Amino acid sequence: MFFFDFNNSTSATNAITQSLVSDSFVHTAELDSIRTLLGKETEKQGLRSSDLAELTGWSPSKTSKLTAGRQRLTAEDIRTWSRALGYTPDPFIDGKADIRYYNLGGYIRKPSDALEAYFCVLDGEPEHVAIAQYELPLSILAMLGVKISDYAVRANASGFTIDPVTRRGFGNTATYIRFWQRTTTDNENMTPEFGLWLSPENDYFLFAVYLNRKSEDGAMPQLRAAYKDTLQVEDKYTDEFDKFAEMHRDWVPGFLRQGEIVSIGSDTNMLPQPGDFENTLIDLFRKYCALVWEVKGIDLLPGKYRQREEISSFRQLDILNGYADFYPEVKEKILQREKYLCENNPAHSTFVDALGRPYMEVVPIVPFEEGMQFGTNIFEQENGVCLCPMCRAQMKYGSLNDREDMIFKLFRKHQKALQEKGIEISLTQVLAANGLA
Ligand SMILES: [Zn+2]
Repeated sequence: MFFFDFNNSTSATNAITQSLVSDSFVHTAELDSIRTLLGKETEKQGLRSSDLAELTGWSPSKTSKLTAGRQRLTAEDIRTWSRALGYTPDPFIDGKADIRYYNLGGYIRKPSDALEAYFCVLDGEPEHVAIAQYELPLSILAMLGVKISDYAVRANASGFTIDPVTRRGFGNTATYIRFWQRTTTDNENMTPEFGLWLSPENDYFLFAVYLNRKSEDGAMPQLRAAYKDTLQVEDKYTDEFDKFAEMHRDWVPGFLRQGEIVSIGSDTNMLPQPGDFENTLIDLFRKYCALVWEVKGIDLLPGKYRQREEISSFRQLDILNGYADFYPEVKEKILQREKYLCENNPAHSTFVDALGRPYMEVVPIVPFEEGMQFGTNIFEQENGVCLCPMCRAQMKYGSLNDREDMIFKLFRKHQKALQEKGIEISLTQVLAANGLA
């Protein structure tokens, strides 16, 4: 089960994008233009300076200097800023790129592929850092199907450096990638987080959901036990983790040893199969959401993770026969939502029906026969648009260009509502579903 379908994306990639590996773009691109584009996107996503600071881990002063152009952006800054917004640097480097057509799946690999690649490159190689700090975080959040700019990321690639004076190695640390939803931090000083650790020797990896508590007041063991109880974590897993953490004190950080709630560790000789890795992440993410609900009373679980109601067999038959339609009360809601105006162009006129109202048609954006996997949600108002009879006919029988333009416009308008209803679909898929592949 993939929530972000890398395979169906139009330009799925086998390699990491150069903008994450090589700094050369800062020499050739216009830094001012990059900053302007990043700033625009930040604003578009409704992020304040303090939000950006939390997402990136930058200090407030660094954040304001960078956004105001009072400090020169480095390649790493650009990557971090782009990642916070849910992008690789690519659409910001290329001033001519249209960000609306940006497709993250074309620039990063799915989590299991990125993890496998991580183990194939050496510490200190640019790709080692790029995968740990940028590709995996983006890939994991995209796969979980969350809004990337809702999640703060702290990531660091393991490093091993030879001191030129002593000729001894130092700085051997684990690679880690930690996440938390940015609205879940508050004055209580205790934040549920989820994360991934890769041992310095690359022989272990560990996923965990845990409580990160900044103040040390001795309450942690009780809190940990209480939340483990609520989330019904079996004792044997806790014991396993505690033994594991004790053996690896050198790289398993204290806040994780104290605050671990659920974890899965493994020897890298037994890496999970592609797909299993993603499913493990999804399981842990559900646990994370449950923990946030318990600790903070905030419901983070995206709509698509909830049980969807299956379409009844009668209705399925209607769909297959082409008789399926929105229920009258849903149609009414859609018409009132749009105030009986054509969504393709509100200036379009129509005739007055027997009830004395402007006659409008209600049309699904994702055709019923193509959207059965979304369950009964495709019959909800989020999937319906209000069109004048002329546009209704044009959507079906118009020229390819006109139909494409119309569907593009309608989809963009409703994409967010569809997503929130659990109808997770890309523009390419919507066009294809409407016979425009
Ligand atoms: Zn119209």
